[in-house]
Amino acid sequence: MTDLLARRARLLGPNLPTFYDDPVHIVRGKGVWLWDAEGRRYLDCYNNVAHVGHCHPKVVAAICRQAAVLNTHTRYLHEGILDYAERLTATFGHGLSQVIMVCTGSEANDILLRMAQAVTGKSGFIATDNTYHGNTWAVSQLSSRRPPVGGYGANIRRVPAPDALAPLGGSAAAQPAAFAAGVAAAIAELEEAGFGFAGFMFCPVFANEGLPGVSPGFLGPTAEVVRRAGGLLLADEVQPGFGRCGSHWWGHDWLGVAPDAVSLGKPMGNGHPVAAVVARPDVMAAFRQAFGYFNTFGGNPVSCAAASAVLDVIGDEGLMANAAAVGAHLVEGIGALRHPLIAGVRGVGLFVGVELARDGRPATAEAAAVVEAMRRRGVLIGRVGRAQHILKLRPPMPIRREEADIAVAALADALAGLPA
Ligand code: PMP
Repeated sequence: MTDLLARRARLLGPNLPTFYDDPVHIVRGKGVWLWDAEGRRYLDCYNNVAHVGHCHPKVVAAICRQAAVLNTHTRYLHEGILDYAERLTATFGHGLSQVIMVCTGSEANDILLRMAQAVTGKSGFIATDNTYHGNTWAVSQLSSRRPPVGGYGANIRRVPAPDALAPLGGSAAAQPAAFAAGVAAAIAELEEAGFGFAGFMFCPVFANEGLPGVSPGFLGPTAEVVRRAGGLLLADEVQPGFGRCGSHWWGHDWLGVAPDAVSLGKPMGNGHPVAAVVARPDVMAAFRQAFGYFNTFGGNPVSCAAASAVLDVIGDEGLMANAAAVGAHLVEGIGALRHPLIAGVRGVGLFVGVELARDGRPATAEAAAVVEAMRRRGVLIGRVGRAQHILKLRPPMPIRREEADIAVAALADALAGLPA
């Protein structure tokens, strides 16, 4: 372990994060389970990339089959990308019917920004002040983790993010209007500064904001403000997409909002690096007119085979219904724990946040201790939120009730073991 850490530092450079004080050296995965180099088994309650389960045999077989036949780029004709685009767009409403395939969520979000520029001819963008949309130069301007060198661009406005512990406007009921007011003020500033307003990028469940438990309809007032100003609604579905919400394929449909263009990523290829943008034809046409676009690896036959197999498995194994049922079971189980640190438990399908607070204030140190304690008990989770005080459980979609119960028991035990 120390040897691996030293090699990482020597070969990959400094400041490369690992999860956990005692990092896990994983060598094998199957379904919702991971095994470390010593043969110890961990329940994965964190990784949404392995959406249909680690190393799902159907996805593995599809990748191998296609890799043995052909893998080249989209300047040659191939049915793979067309068959996949047909299946993918069939899951979308709102006229979202055309696709660009890329390799990462960051690239997809970068395209969303350029689409909004192409449609509006403007360059001002808005996102929340507690988010992450990727790591290209452009989208890192919308991310709050590390301020860009020289500060945020003058064409970027970061509006107060929804929050469960300290809701905007003072209450959950006032929050939708208060959030929209923040967006309206930002639009006015961008127009005043001469950039104009191109688009508003958001995650439908506000995942990186800490899953603040907004309800369907939350974004209604904001959507109205954005539309009135002529900007685009850019939905980042990298986290909630592909049925994780349980009730809907896409987070924006769960939320009840109609975006102009959408980015997809993480779960799309079950670990194979494939991502996409789905847009209305008018938006796509404006983008292609302004920028053209070619991505060497995006949409190659192997990526399409992997992504297609993921759609097969979601359907064949009833994984959306499973997300709804087991997600509700997980929230119920954690909700029943009634520990004084638990200030709120909320879930959208198989995406669960547990807010830890002491005297109404974020319990950051305690959340860190719980994550470590669960790792010692063989359950992998993460944390999120402005103060990193919200436990994040986002397991692969095939998790069963009995496995969710293992996570709840480990959480109860971890909380009980905290110093009083
Ligand atoms: N959008 C969101 C909401 C994300 O959480 C992430 C990754 N954590 C990205 C975009 C970027 O995706 P990628 O790492 O594939 O570039």
